[in-house]
Amino acid sequence: MAIDQGTTSTRGILFDAAARRVSVAQSEFPQHYPAPGWVEHDAERIWRDTLSTAREAIERAAVSLDGIAAIGIANQRETAVIWDRRTGQPIHRAIVWQDRRTSETCARLKADGAEDEVRARTGLLLDPYFSGTKIAWMLDHVAGARASAERGDLAFGTIDSFLLWRLTGGAVHATDVTNASRTLLWNIREQCWDEEMCRLLRVPSAILPAVHDNAHLYGTTTPDLFGRAIPITGIAGDQQAALFGQACFSPGTVKSTYGTGCFALLNTGTQAIASRHRLLTTPAYRLDGRTSFALEGSIFVAGAAVKWLRDGIGVITHASQTNDMATQVADSHGVYMVPAFVGLGAPHWDPDARGAIYGLTLGATQAHLARAALEAVGYQTMDLIDAMLADSGVRPAVMRVDGGMAANDWLCGFLADLLELPVERPAELETTARGAAFLAGLATGIWSGLAEIEALWSSGRRFEPSMPPERRAPLVAGWRDALRRTMLPKA
Ligand code: ADP
Repeated sequence: MAIDQGTTSTRGILFDAAARRVSVAQSEFPQHYPAPGWVEHDAERIWRDTLSTAREAIERAAVSLDGIAAIGIANQRETAVIWDRRTGQPIHRAIVWQDRRTSETCARLKADGAEDEVRARTGLLLDPYFSGTKIAWMLDHVAGARASAERGDLAFGTIDSFLLWRLTGGAVHATDVTNASRTLLWNIREQCWDEEMCRLLRVPSAILPAVHDNAHLYGTTTPDLFGRAIPITGIAGDQQAALFGQACFSPGTVKSTYGTGCFALLNTGTQAIASRHRLLTTPAYRLDGRTSFALEGSIFVAGAAVKWLRDGIGVITHASQTNDMATQVADSHGVYMVPAFVGLGAPHWDPDARGAIYGLTLGATQAHLARAALEAVGYQTMDLIDAMLADSGVRPAVMRVDGGMAANDWLCGFLADLLELPVERPAELETTARGAAFLAGLATGIWSGLAEIEALWSSGRRFEPSMPPERRAPLVAGWRDALRRTMLPKA
């Protein structure tokens, strides 16, 4: 059973030994936006949804409890929870990865010249995206929290770690390498919590979890939760889980996941490549103590722009409508959307940029706006792949895509055109959950190794590039122009 705890929904999914989906239960949960640029989740609600969707998935599959070999967890990364070790209660709502409240702290550290050291130790950059500055914010803003943390009374975790704590009845405080590596506190080369980073970000090491391989016996669920103790044997951050689920095990393979945001990861093997183009260097997975690395490009808003069209301004009532709307029109009529709703991620890293729409004329319609939102996802991916090529010298042969938004055929075709690469969509779009299941199954011997997992991957549809260069070039030039305007130095 995979638990896929995403940014907008929580899923429980059962897979059989052939990695076929047997049952799914899903529940969306509310986003809290207490101030512009702030994003919070109720960790208690996430826990309730995790339990109810897991139970529902088990019920729907109609398997006996003995039939469930193990649980794997994939989770939204960087989102920070701090809870009281005695009561298990969170001391504050979870601060979500998209949250920008610590952008001043990051700017100050940058101005102090800390970024080179941060990059060398963690593979990351100084940006509010990561957990470290969110932890310090909670310790400084919840009365008494810092003192409790220093006494060892509080525990920090990303969502996986919080769920593991709850699933094991408070017996286990741990996380995996991929989640640890997104905190700004984990030294990716020495593979340990970094004291220097803890000091820089003012995080007491007493609150940090133990860190293990991705396929590992983390603990067992308390029998009261599901009627039987089930081992939890796999954990990975959602993007690394998706890379695993896409069977991108060879250096030079790349996947891009289109959910709330878009995250492209290029497997670089055992080599941790330091990026010269503001990508992240991140562990892809660690098995039997051996780490494979990836170069990652992180875009904060992809499907979230479509969600905004639906919930923010009511242009659509269902996300999938954007496919037909984009197809209805010949082009975006000169409209460009720069979806910097929560700043810009890779390769620009501008936390203070905000979203913009350019090129509006009286001929612009809702369809053009929808198309511009999808096109923006393509342009941003193109910027990431260009940076990856410049860093690694590797031009991938094909890009594998997944995530809720990859169901959009028009988007996949546009991606192939812009990237000038074939885009391959797997038959199983739930690759994040599948990756978590693979990890859990590896640890329990359901699958013997990576070769067996690779053989289970199958293509659903392949999109070939077909746009002539003379049509592509002006589109790209228009995007560059829109981006430049959005990132103009602030007065
Ligand atoms: P997450 O795991 O980040 O919560 P999902 O992988 O479930 O996200 O994808 C959901 C996102 O994808 C939503 O933001 C939604 O707007 C977008 N989305 C879903 N289906 C489509 C579609 N057919 N076309 C465009 N966007 C879509």
